[in-house]
Amino acid sequence: MEEKLICDKCKVELEELEAQFSYLGKSFRHKVSRCPMCGQICLSEELVTGRMSEVESMMEDK
Ligand SMILES: [Zn+2]
Repeated sequence: MEEKLICDKCKVELEELEAQFSYLGKSFRHKVSRCPMCGQICLSEELVTGRMSEVESMMEDK
């Protein structure tokens, strides 16, 4: 089941794509939703903080 997101500005469906992020010198890929019209990327705060703490704990292990 997929939840479709709609851009507030353009009222079009956001498309999913894989984006690369870098944080604290580590890079990782994650799927994000992006508006094909204005290029606005929609990231849920939960997703971002979840991934960030994952990366942080990875680094602490070393
Ligand atoms: Zn848009």
